[in-house]
Amino acid sequence: MRIEADKNFGTRECPSCGLEVAINENRCPVCDYEFPNPPAPPRPLAVVGWVLFGILLAAILITLIF
Ligand SMILES: [Zn+2]
Repeated sequence: MRIEADKNFGTRECPSCGLEVAINENRCPVCDYEFPNPPAPPRPLAVVGWVLFGILLAAILITLIF
């Protein structure tokens, strides 16, 4: 199995030709369809990450204080 860097960002289907185009590509490489606007990907994982980071930071502070 080959690891492709684009896979990390996910893909979206080109409405013109149906090709799976990488999220970070604004234009379809096959039919030259230009995506109207970059999708704002919901980042629940990022939010959870920051919450966990905050909890961890609080835990560290509490550990240091006591
Ligand atoms: Zn296309």
